[in-house]
Amino acid sequence: MIVELISVGTELLLGNIVNTNAAYLAEKCALLGLSMYHQSVVGDNEERLAETIKTAAGRSDVVILSGGLGPTKDDLTKEVAAKVMGYELVEDAHTKARIEEYFKNSQFKIITDNNWKQALIPEGAIVVDNKNGTAPGLIMEKDGKSVILLPGPPNELVPMFEQDIFPYLNKLQPEIICSAMVKICGLGESYVETQIADLIENQTNPTIAPYAKTGEVHLRITAKAGDEKEAKKLIKPVVKELRNRFGSNIYTTDESKTLEEAIVDLLLEKQLTLTTAESCTGGMLAARLTNVPGVSEVFKQGLVTYSNRAKRKLLDVKKNTLKDCGAVSDKTAKEMAKNGAFITGSDICVSVTGIAGPDGGTEEKPVGLVYMACSYNNKVTVKEFHFKGERSKVRESSVVNALTLVRE
Ligand code: ATP
Ligand code: MG
Repeated sequence: MIVELISVGTELLLGNIVNTNAAYLAEKCALLGLSMYHQSVVGDNEERLAETIKTAAGRSDVVILSGGLGPTKDDLTKEVAAKVMGYELVEDAHTKARIEEYFKNSQFKIITDNNWKQALIPEGAIVVDNKNGTAPGLIMEKDGKSVILLPGPPNELVPMFEQDIFPYLNKLQPEIICSAMVKICGLGESYVETQIADLIENQTNPTIAPYAKTGEVHLRITAKAGDEKEAKKLIKPVVKELRNRFGSNIYTTDESKTLEEAIVDLLLEKQLTLTTAESCTGGMLAARLTNVPGVSEVFKQGLVTYSNRAKRKLLDVKKNTLKDCGAVSDKTAKEMAKNGAFITGSDICVSVTGIAGPDGGTEEKPVGLVYMACSYNNKVTVKEFHFKGERSKVRESSVVNALTLVRE
């Protein structure tokens, strides 16, 4: 089954807003195993919009439009789509009541005339309630094709898609799609890709798709089958093979689990406590860890020792170490981790010190040079990294790799 997206809005064409709806919808459609060959962006113009919808409905089974369902004059998606699909607009009592209800509960109590425009729906279309706004989603079916209209604001579109459109599309598919996720840390994207090049080259069902995130690689395995049991049977040997190839670099096969959650789980399981001693990440590592509910059981302290003085006073880093080797050195990272664990009485202490840039780099110690150390059981391991990219990227990469170091 082929699906196609049309994003409506002149502000998208002008670059005033980023088309996050298209990215979101495309990812979900891929998850559903739908084929997508086209995406378009069209302004709030009747003629061009009509032409775009006609073309899309001519070559695809499902056309999803986002934007232009609002009450104002420039919002004309519904009117144009209904015309193209040969639907009449009629007032829908259910939608009208929902609009009244919405306004009753909102800070804007006065309903203006143009709001009633949103109670008009293509006669016979499926109405999808909008819990976060007034414009309902709409599905028009004709000659085996579906044209789906969704509101532009992401906070309205996303919940509507999750709750109603995803199951609708899933039902249209004769086969079910099932997928699993394998999340890898501590290995680069290109390395991972070369390690699975043979699997990707010979894939039919299931398929493997890699997604690179900062410091992580996620592999999605998607299978098509008659039912879920059959799909899972197809996926299982692939996950097993990936485990053989990537071993402990796989931190989870749970779709919803983050790296920090996996680490907190591990610490809880082993009953170990953790302290962070950060310089260039300025507390980002501690912030990531404290995203996880229940982390208080294992997280002792987050120390941010940005200045040399703080490194000396709070972490007892030797004056000579800082003088001879510098704050960004393997020796400083080691002392930060070792002393951090001792001072706070933690089983583990991970430290980060580096040059995030854009200034402060030298030939000998360039921007992106980061040392990390991890102290555990009185043994300290230290690693040197050379990250590319701007300040925020260096800092984010540092955080992910520091988390990875804790796992090791
Ligand atoms: P409204 O009732 O708010 O007018 P609408 O369905 O008519 O909703 P638009 O007028 O096209 O939608 O867009 C409203 C807002 O939604 C935009 O200003 C923008 O913030 C957001 N938006 C619209 N389209 C997109 C998109 N493709 N990606 C991300 N955000 C979008
Ligand atoms: Mg609008």
